[in-house]
Amino acid sequence: SRPVKLSVQLYGYGEGRRLLLARDVTALEQAEAMRRDFVANVSHEIRTPLTVLAGFVETLQNLPLEEAERNRYLELMAQQAERMQHLVEDLLTLSRLEGSPLPSSNDWVSVRQLLQRCENEARGLSTALTRKQARPHMLEFPADEVLALAGEVAGASAELHSAFSNLLGNAMRYTPAGGRIVVRWESLPDGSARFAVKDSGAGIDPKHITRLTERFYRVDRSRSRDTGGTGLGLAIVKHVLQRHGATLSISSTVGQGSEFAVTFPPLRIRQAQTVLLPPQV
Ligand code: ADP
Repeated sequence: SRPVKLSVQLYGYGEGRRLLLARDVTALEQAEAMRRDFVANVSHEIRTPLTVLAGFVETLQNLPLEEAERNRYLELMAQQAERMQHLVEDLLTLSRLEGSPLPSSNDWVSVRQLLQRCENEARGLSTALTRKQARPHMLEFPADEVLALAGEVAGASAELHSAFSNLLGNAMRYTPAGGRIVVRWESLPDGSARFAVKDSGAGIDPKHITRLTERFYRVDRSRSRDTGGTGLGLAIVKHVLQRHGATLSISSTVGQGSEFAVTFPPLRIRQAQTVLLPPQV
């Protein structure tokens, strides 16, 4: 049994009559503690890049620097500004997800379009990396024939795209150059469907797995920051999936890689109609 916190008030009324009012405020206090933690986390996440930025500004103001060195400082400053931008964007996305009505289950999104958009973006990112002289990842996406039969999923296209691309982005960010990333879409016999991103990255120790979707939870803070992470990606994924009746399962082996899989229930999936051609006479 967990401890319960009660707020007790005693009212006197009439002749010697008393009313004792006891309220269970456990949940209220927990929510308040979570809110405080969240504000503290956000402040910390903003303060760090701001401190770095202020430091660079001071250096630029006070030291006579060569042009090349000055440019290097400006580049580092731009990185910090970009980090804050991503953080604010992710915070806004989360707050929008929390405040907006559930996506309609009558809007159908083409799985083919969704995955093709993710593929184009991932390949773009990979090309950009190659320009920076890192070996590109080996990216594998479902073949056209699979996508043609993938059908549709009910929900909000922008939200689903943000969830899928977050998972794909993580796979790329936590897999060293040249690693392999496989994206799959499977329609299952019971009418449900499964989207999965498998990587050959560092993997995740099982003790962290249940906490990964908490806001700002990271296995390795510095690694997450170095790769441009805000610590909010999987919290966004979790919210989007909840709003779509879908579930996330994570399996991982340290040193071998991870798989993040999303399962949509049958009600949310419209299988592609297979056209039966009349028999040839
Ligand atoms: P971040 O911005 O830090 O990547 P996320 O919420 O997207 O935030 O992920 C939370 C943490 O989960 C990451 O910091 C990382 O430790 C871990 N993680 C997420 N995806 C992967 C992956 N594909 N491989 C290994 N670790 C991962």
